Amino acid sequence: MPGTLLETSRFQAYGPRHIDEIAERYGLPEEIGRTVRLVSLVLPFRVNTYVLSHLIDWGSVPDDPIFQLTFPQRGMLTDADLQQIAKASADPADRLLLRETVKEIRARLNPHPSGQRLNVPSQDGTELPGLQHKYRETVLYFPGQGQTCHAYCTYCFRWAQFIGDADLRFAAPDPDGLITYLRDHPEVHDVLVTGGDPMVMSTERLARHLLPLLDVESVRTIRIGTKSVAYWPQRFTTDTDADDALRLFERIVASGRQLAVMAHFSHPRELRTDQARRALARIRATGAVLYCQAPLIAHVNDDASVWSELWGAELAAGAVPYYLFVERDTGPHDYFKVALARAVEVFRDAYRTLPGLARTVRGPVMSATPGKIAVDGIEETEQGAFFQLRMLQARTPSLVGRPFRARFCAEAAWIDELQLDPATPPDIAAAVAGGTGASDNSRPAQGRRSQP
Ligand code: SF4
Repeated sequence: MPGTLLETSRFQAYGPRHIDEIAERYGLPEEIGRTVRLVSLVLPFRVNTYVLSHLIDWGSVPDDPIFQLTFPQRGMLTDADLQQIAKASADPADRLLLRETVKEIRARLNPHPSGQRLNVPSQDGTELPGLQHKYRETVLYFPGQGQTCHAYCTYCFRWAQFIGDADLRFAAPDPDGLITYLRDHPEVHDVLVTGGDPMVMSTERLARHLLPLLDVESVRTIRIGTKSVAYWPQRFTTDTDADDALRLFERIVASGRQLAVMAHFSHPRELRTDQARRALARIRATGAVLYCQAPLIAHVNDDASVWSELWGAELAAGAVPYYLFVERDTGPHDYFKVALARAVEVFRDAYRTLPGLARTVRGPVMSATPGKIAVDGIEETEQGAFFQLRMLQARTPSLVGRPFRARFCAEAAWIDELQLDPATPPDIAAAVAGGTGASDNSRPAQGRRSQP
C-alpha cells in the first residue's frame, strides 16, 4: 500500500512527497522536515522502510550517521542557495522560476566530477551511451534500467544520474553497444556493471544485461557495484526473484568468469542486521567474491573506530575490505569532505587495529581525473612537510604504481588543492594538471569546478 509507510516485504521507495508521512511516523522535527523538503528540490532524496525502520536511530536525529547518509541536510547547500530555493518555491504557480533556480544551482555543483565525460568511448565516431572506458582493462557499463538505488546516499558522486536530466545521465538502453565495443577491444577483461545500482533491476532484466557478456571470450571478470545489501538486503533473501538472482550469479561463476560483488558499506550499522548478514552469506554461497568499498565522509564515518569496526565486520562476513575513498568534488562536497591530512590519520589509526587478512584495504584514495591516487602518508623533511602520493591506477598505464609528492596543506581535501613538488616527473605532473600535456608543475593542479 504505497504512501502509508507500513513495513511490507515488498520494496517501496519514499521520497520528497512523503516527508510529512515520514515526519509523523518517526517524529522528525518540523524544522528538519522543512529543510529536507527544500534541499531535496535540488539534490535527490529516496529512502525505503528498511532504512527508516532498521538502520536510522531516530533518537539521535539529526546527528545519526544513517540519517546523515540518507536525508538531505541543511549544510548541503549554501545559505544563499537555500534562501533562493525557498523564495523560488514559495509560489507554487511559478514552476518555471523554480525549475530555472534548481537548474542554476545544480550546474554549480559540478555534476560530472573527475572528468567522467572524458571517459565516454566512441564507436565509428559516435559516442556510446552508458559506457565509460577510463582504464585500459576495465569498462564501466550503466544499464538504463539500473540507474536508481534502493535509497540515495546524500554524498553520492553520481547524484546527477537521479535528477531526471537526460543530458547529465549515463545510461545504455541495452547491452548491444557494450558487446560490440568489447569485441573490438579484447584488451578489456573486466566489466563493472554500475549505476545507480544494477540490483534494483528484476533478475530477468539483470540477466538480459549480464548474460551476453558470457559470449565475449575476452571478458574474465564481471563486477556488480551495489549498495543493495546495505539498503535492501531482501534483494538476496525474500524478494520474489531473490533466488533467481543467486542462480544467475551461480551461472556466471560456472561460466569460468570471476563474479565480484562490489558492496558499498558506509557504516558498520549496515552490517549489523540479520537480513544483511544473511544476504552476504547467500551471495558468497554462489561463488561470487565480495569486495567492500566506501568513501570517508564527514558526519557519517569520519572516525577510525567506525572503520575499524566496519572492516572487521566485513572480514567476519567473508568479504574483502578493498577501498577507502576520499569524497569526490561534486554536489554537497563542502559539507561531507574530510581534509586529506585527517583522512590519512583515520585510515592509519583504523588500519593498525586490523588483523593481517583485513589489510587488503587501500586508502585514502582519490578517484581523480588522471586516475586513482593514494595518499600514502605525510613526510617531514628539511624543506617542509609533503603528502606522499602514488598512482594506484591511471588512464596512462605507464603512470601506475609511481610515487610522487605534494606540499602538505592541512585543509586540502582534493588533488587540485595541492601543489606538486617541483621535482615531480613531467608526465605525472601533466596528468595531474588535467592531461593537457602541461608540465609546469610549480603551480596548483586544475581547479576542480572547471573540470570537464
Ligand atoms: S548507492 Fe551508490 S549510486 Fe546509489 S546513491 Fe548511494 S553512492 Fe550513489
